Amino acid sequence: MKIARQHSIEQEASERKKNFLEVSFGLNEERAFIEAKRCLECKNPICTEGCPVGIDIRSFVQLILQKDYLGAVQKIRETNYLPAICGRVCPQETQCEQVCTMGKKHEPVAIGKLERFVADFELANNLFCPPTISERRDEKVAIVGSGPAGLTCAAELGKLGYQVTIFEALHGIGGVLRYGIPEFRLPKKILDIEAERIQALGVKIYTNFLVGRTATIDELFDEWKFNAIFLGTGAGTPSFMGIPGESLSGVYSANEFLTRINLMKAYSFPEYDTPIRIGQQIAVIGGGNTAMDAVRTAKRLGAERAYLIYRRSREEMPAREEEIHHAEEEGIEFLLLTNPTKILGDKNNWVCGIECLKMELGDSDDSGRRKPVAIKDSEFVIPVQTVIEAVGQKPNPIIQQTTSGLNVGKRGTVVVNDVQQTSREGIFAGGDLTRGGATVILAMGDGKIAAKEIHKYLQAKSKKLEEQFTATTIAEPVLA
Ligand SMILES: Cc1cc2nc3c(=O)[nH]c(=O)nc-3n(C[C@H](O)[C@H](O)[C@H](O)COP(=O)(O)OP(=O)(O)OC[C@H]3O[C@@H](n4cnc5c(N)ncnc54)[C@H](O)[C@@H]3O)c2cc1C
Ligand code: SF4
Repeated sequence: MKIARQHSIEQEASERKKNFLEVSFGLNEERAFIEAKRCLECKNPICTEGCPVGIDIRSFVQLILQKDYLGAVQKIRETNYLPAICGRVCPQETQCEQVCTMGKKHEPVAIGKLERFVADFELANNLFCPPTISERRDEKVAIVGSGPAGLTCAAELGKLGYQVTIFEALHGIGGVLRYGIPEFRLPKKILDIEAERIQALGVKIYTNFLVGRTATIDELFDEWKFNAIFLGTGAGTPSFMGIPGESLSGVYSANEFLTRINLMKAYSFPEYDTPIRIGQQIAVIGGGNTAMDAVRTAKRLGAERAYLIYRRSREEMPAREEEIHHAEEEGIEFLLLTNPTKILGDKNNWVCGIECLKMELGDSDDSGRRKPVAIKDSEFVIPVQTVIEAVGQKPNPIIQQTTSGLNVGKRGTVVVNDVQQTSREGIFAGGDLTRGGATVILAMGDGKIAAKEIHKYLQAKSKKLEEQFTATTIAEPVLA
């Protein structure tokens, strides 16, 4: 195959590190067409098996070749209601593209970029039309949390005609898509439009509604008369390393840092003034997407030197390759095989430095990755004024603590079976709440499975009621 994989058009690194505009503009029509041509139209399109929501990838790529871009996005939306979001943030390289047949000898088809291209085409030309809902049903389903798991579950049930209501603790919907992922990777405008399309299915949304406090799960069943509930409350509680100095001023969890930036619009300075002090040098600890987002954000907010401190090597970093590459281009300084041991403070208790140890890779650990081992006497200090920890997160426990009969795992995750059912009848769950920190598309896949299962559950329940009613009617004595 002589045609090379097509690349997105991007803002120059020297420019984009000073602004919050989108880094990538995606493929243009010409590049999208060339890229679609690379698809081998496999008889067994294994790419679909690699997609947690089962998009018919071969068909949508073929529609691009016919220049039927609207048909292509409609094909995607049959199984994925958030194509413009997934086309931007999904880790395709470890899903559909990893198994793509083309990737065996050459680079895989750029499935994610093609998905974004058709979704953006539909958006730019205002061509969206909601699907027809053939039957409106009386049963009410509550969705707790409006991240990708909740939004997907709501969309699937909305398409089936259920009375769906989303309850969201924050004032805006989208979960991590809104308060975590920065504007330069996923503009809020895109999220708003895709979320509006879910509302167009008849889905109601209550924001500023903290389930477990504003109303408990039992109240949603007993007083609000919901027939089933899906929990998609994510894993928004940050973990810390537990090293000295974490209570100094200038230390943030990545969650707090990114939430301030996103929800208080710090990216629109000076129009919005956000209480966040960056300093000249900052250090972010971690190697995942969250760490990468935090360090690139800090650079855009004016840090002269932005360090990313990670205890293993580049190969082991869990962040998406594309994001690591973008961070490198933007001048982020990677301190690899380095582990922080202490955060240092000045006389006013503000951060003034971070002490680290050099590491080397030892044997593999339980995760299959080589374990970082400290190199004796290799301590060194770098001057920084801000430290941001991005070392993992766990679920918020409010619902688990206020709902009886819900099995909870060791790390605070809600336990589900393979069809997303919890230990309590009528309650289903998915996404980061059940997995710990994972990905957008896995959360969406869970939301989809749960919706299918809720549908089955409600149908079985109404059939049972119908049978009971018929049996009672037959059993009644006939009066002469
Ligand atoms: C900074 C960052 C960058 C990331 N980048 C990527 C990426 O590039 N690609 C990728 O695939 N994944 C990425 N991820 C991971 C991905 O965003 C998550 O796996 C995904 O959002 C999980 O979806 P969810 O629906 O389970 O939960 P969330 O997105 O966390 O949404 C949960 C929602 O529930 C609400 N909620 C919580 N408790 C309650 C309650 N009691 N009552 C009502 N509402 C409640 C929360 O406010 C939130 O809105 C990133 C994560 C972070 C933090
Ligand atoms: S596996 Fe790759 S080459 Fe084959 S149909 Fe899917 S996208 Fe096309």
